[in-house]
Amino acid sequence: MKIAFIGLGAMGYPMARHLAKAHDVTVWNRTAAKAERHAKEHGTTLAPDLESCAGAEVIITMLPTSKEVDEVVDRLLPYLKAGTLWIDATSGDPNVSRLTSERLAGKGVDFVDAPVTGAVVGAENATLTIMIGGTAQQFERAREILKVCGKTIIHAGDVGAGHAIKVLTNSIMGATVWITAECMLMAKKFGIDMKTAFAVTNSGSGRSNASENLLPMRLVDGKWPLVFKLALHDKDIRIAAAMAHQQHGSTPMLALTSQLFTAALNQLGPEADYIEVAKVIAAMNGTEW
Ligand code: NDP
Repeated sequence: MKIAFIGLGAMGYPMARHLAKAHDVTVWNRTAAKAERHAKEHGTTLAPDLESCAGAEVIITMLPTSKEVDEVVDRLLPYLKAGTLWIDATSGDPNVSRLTSERLAGKGVDFVDAPVTGAVVGAENATLTIMIGGTAQQFERAREILKVCGKTIIHAGDVGAGHAIKVLTNSIMGATVWITAECMLMAKKFGIDMKTAFAVTNSGSGRSNASENLLPMRLVDGKWPLVFKLALHDKDIRIAAAMAHQQHGSTPMLALTSQLFTAALNQLGPEADYIEVAKVIAAMNGTEW
């Protein structure tokens, strides 16, 4: 299958590598040097320009937000062929995806939203969970392509459903990271050793991915890698909060989580990693980890 992969960031780079083992993959990236490196390292083809990606049978976008995806759609639209499948793996906005799907349907192009979860390590190891929004037939087409990138591929519902459940599940993660970091800080202030506090939490009902993996790496081992930009996590939670608002939902926890992440983003800046919110929590308490 001829695939054009657009967006070789932290997630897209390894995903395109797995696809290249089974397909004829052309790559395009805004910063061309990354695409050149990908072609050299993984036998992919460097797209001469973005518009040339329109000739592929399958187009995959892995960009920060639906805004950048829409800009790419605008540029490719005049050149797209009927029968093409567009897989948007970005964690996007479900309302925008529905409109994008309609725009592309006018050209005979199938669009599915197919965001992923499992972090950079999941993209590297092809163990992502992928949630797809589209018809049953479109889901099958996309699943056949994406099976080399993930372990679990779920049909979430109609177009937009993948993006909707992705931002909701990321909001759960955000709230969990925040409350776990707050409670760990209180344990520390009380004089409890961090390793002990995590050991107790992880053998009880406070256990989560935040307490088992995300926070101990930072708070016990002192490693603060940049794996998922806080700006992107904030974007996900804001989309979830807007969805709740649109549905006239009463979701105070979600609203608070969104407010807290936006405050942290304003303090730490767009290049911070999402787990650095723990530093803001410490600063709110006049201390450091
Ligand atoms: P990165 O910031 O690492 O990569 C973003 C990619 O988008 C880069 O290829 C970048 O190009 C490109 N890009 C940015 N702006 C534009 C633009 N205006 N026009 C064209 N290309 C652009 O992000 P991630 O890979 O981390 O995230 C990608 C998506 O996946 C996001 O929606 C994110 O929420 C989601 N996600 C991320 C996870 C993670 O752990 N990192 C986990 C699950 C989902 P350039 O190289 O030129 O900057």
